Amino acid sequence: MPATGIKQDAIVIGGGFYGAAIAVYLAKQRGFNRIVVVERERALLMRASYNNQARVHNGYHYPRSFTTAYRSRINLPNFVRDWPDAVRQDFSKLYAIARRHSKVTAKQFVRFCRDIGARIQPAGQDLRALFEPRLIEDVFLVEEYVFDTTKLASWAERELEECGIQIRFQTQAAAIANSHGGALSVTLKHAQGIEEQLSSRYVFNCTYSGLNQLNGDFPGTATGLKQEITEMALVQAPPALDNLGITVMDGPFFSMMPFPARGLHTLSHVRYTPHLHWNDMPGIDPYQKLIQYDKSTRANRMVKDASRYLPAVLDAKYVDSLFEVKTVLMKNESDDGRPILFEKHRELPGYYSVLGGKIDNIYDVLEKLNDEKLSLSN
Ligand SMILES: Cc1cc2nc3c(=O)[nH]c(=O)nc-3n(C[C@H](O)[C@H](O)[C@H](O)COP(=O)(O)OP(=O)(O)OC[C@H]3O[C@@H](n4cnc5c(N)ncnc54)[C@H](O)[C@@H]3O)c2cc1C
Repeated sequence: MPATGIKQDAIVIGGGFYGAAIAVYLAKQRGFNRIVVVERERALLMRASYNNQARVHNGYHYPRSFTTAYRSRINLPNFVRDWPDAVRQDFSKLYAIARRHSKVTAKQFVRFCRDIGARIQPAGQDLRALFEPRLIEDVFLVEEYVFDTTKLASWAERELEECGIQIRFQTQAAAIANSHGGALSVTLKHAQGIEEQLSSRYVFNCTYSGLNQLNGDFPGTATGLKQEITEMALVQAPPALDNLGITVMDGPFFSMMPFPARGLHTLSHVRYTPHLHWNDMPGIDPYQKLIQYDKSTRANRMVKDASRYLPAVLDAKYVDSLFEVKTVLMKNESDDGRPILFEKHRELPGYYSVLGGKIDNIYDVLEKLNDEKLSLSN
């Protein structure tokens, strides 16, 4: 069907951190004027870009994926430079290594940190004393930060407005098709049930969990995706843990990190955070699946198991849970790596599927975009 309506320089589907950052890049770095961002929620950064552990990765988390660890080391300083207001560094970050069931030993972890050039030092006695020595082999003080998701959202709102980028809120991109004259046509469905067609030479699908849910000519991503319904508990940390971020490595353990957006801590547990998973496929809408899912909290189980390693966690007060769909590349299931997905599609020239994997990977995506020859429509 021929596209009608305004011709856009670019359409960005998804107003999460990635969609917003890409729209701003297109405006500022590539001189695009007419950009539309389409977002199904009522505001920017309400989904995975809000409901996450807020860790600015610095490599430590990925002893099984050198590439992800190495890229994190490169991206962290850039993220701190570009979003200084959103980054919190005023807490101590500990990585503890479990004695049993860990995929790394303390010695291997130290060697790995040296290999990626990440700072590490033995934690002092006062911090070690927080852990159960029969279960924890060693404890290290490292350099890792968190971001405030609400500050990233404010940044996105401000920048999109300054760049004159239009946003269609409460609007869902439903289909994508080749149109005449090398354009792509996107069918939008507004909350009130109204349909609209937009056309552009370039469409960036930044919908994270929704990448494969568009009808029309889209063949699906070549890279297989796994969807997971996840729960992160939000807790009020007890005084002993209030100024700390803690991760126990590397297996069925937990992380407790400051979550600046709510003034609380997130508690995630490798065994209890993932509630349900499935292989992504068209027609199984992850957002619908999350709505229909019975969101009974597992916070008690997280606290109970974590307290075996870190007894003070028993004094944490449960406040709330963040439930979200987490989307990961199937190929990284075993090594836990978080590379980006950046795909172009022969059947739909000008259409890009983008998935960042973690917040700081935005630089890997922008690097890819720098290599693209993008020309403005007349
Ligand atoms: C539990 C969990 C913990 C995580 N922890 C961390 C961490 O500690 N550190 C880190 O760096 N990363 C973490 N991540 C990953 C990080 O959250 C994501 O990489 C990042 O937020 C992805 O941004 P995005 O813009 O691609 O996705 P989103 O923020 O989800 O944006 C996609 C947007 O697209 C919209 N959308 C979807 N379909 C459509 C459609 N058809 N039409 C219109 N709009 C649509 C959605 O409403 C959404 O707003 C975590 C993720 C989860 C789920």
